[in-house]
Amino acid sequence: MNRIVIEDVKVIDNHLECNYTIYGEWKRYFKDTNTFFIDYGKKIDRAPESVLVIPLLCNVLPLVWIFDAELIVDDIDKDFFDSIEDFKQGYVNMYPQVSFKGRVSPMKITDNRQDNLNRTATFFSGGVDAYNTLFTHIDENPILVTLWGADITFEDQVGWKFVDSLIKRVALQYKLDYIPIKTSFRRFLNEKTLSDYVFKLTGDNWWYGYQHGIGIIGHIAPLAYQYKIKTAYIASSLTIDDNTTCASDPTIDNFVRFFGCQVVHDGYEYSRPEKTLRISKYVEKTKIPVQFKVCWESEGGSNCCHCEKCYRTILCLIAVKSNPLEYGFIYREDEFAGMMNDFRVKLHFLDNSYFVVYKNIQDLMHKNYTIDDLHPSLRWFYKSNLDKNQFFKRRIIYRFIRKGKNILRTFKKGK
Ligand SMILES: [Zn+2]
Repeated sequence: MNRIVIEDVKVIDNHLECNYTIYGEWKRYFKDTNTFFIDYGKKIDRAPESVLVIPLLCNVLPLVWIFDAELIVDDIDKDFFDSIEDFKQGYVNMYPQVSFKGRVSPMKITDNRQDNLNRTATFFSGGVDAYNTLFTHIDENPILVTLWGADITFEDQVGWKFVDSLIKRVALQYKLDYIPIKTSFRRFLNEKTLSDYVFKLTGDNWWYGYQHGIGIIGHIAPLAYQYKIKTAYIASSLTIDDNTTCASDPTIDNFVRFFGCQVVHDGYEYSRPEKTLRISKYVEKTKIPVQFKVCWESEGGSNCCHCEKCYRTILCLIAVKSNPLEYGFIYREDEFAGMMNDFRVKLHFLDNSYFVVYKNIQDLMHKNYTIDDLHPSLRWFYKSNLDKNQFFKRRIIYRFIRKGKNILRTFKKGK
């Protein structure tokens, strides 16, 4: 039978290390290191073992369920243990074609519940979703928490320095505490092999479809214990209209609890253009500038201004009558037409799930602009029929044209 035995959980300075042994066929989905570690930017020495083990458990549980494994642990927080079946149900409902089994067998269950929790924290990456959540809860003075090892690899030190200093600046601007976290949570599993396995079942990769909601959330537990955090916010990147499967979902995240601390999947009611509008209004009110960090394509941390996500955010800003150049996007005025031409091609290769957000952006443009007010290189977008079926049909035509061009190129080369 598949089994994981968590043998050792220790903290040296701010370094948390969990050692474990894996038994059974599912072993190939784990790296051979048998170690999971996290370096916290602040002390976590008061957190008991039953809490310190939560980050690892959150990143292993989806595997335990899918591979019908047993997880053996010495000590577990009671509130967290009681919440497992609740957030597991979110996965069960999301992926009815997958059988979620497995079990958690603790030697001991400890009630760590505290009644004097009084702070809040929010995961903060510098993107649109994160800023929207920050500004919604700014009066609570949330602690900003950022993970190095999620989208930025350990090897990309320049990228991390960029993000780290950007968030330090945000913390200073709004007088908030900031705790960076360096984590091995995307290095201890064979993510590619796992993705290949689950892709066949549900069409999602491991990180996006199974890990990144609770996998991120778990990191807050030792901090929540140490700094008496009663609510931890994780910003939603999707809305109900998106109608797609994703591991960070209100039906999963909102059911995670530990010792009385509640997780909140925040901002699900707002579309990306609506979030952008809320942010730009806040900037207008406070006169404190915002530098978005939305791009994960470019090494070095800044926004590349040429990927789909950069284009999407630039269009959101334009739709709400804000200037992308004032929000962390750096390009020359004479580059814009070329960028929009490139975006036009990229748009037709996107998955159907994107059409909702682009329709939202277009609706806002219709509300805020006449076609003549808009930059000439965006007028095609203003007039586009972004109906879901049209989106699909155009994609097929574009693929056909691209294929034709490639054949022609090969033919010419041959000549
Ligand atoms: Zn980009």
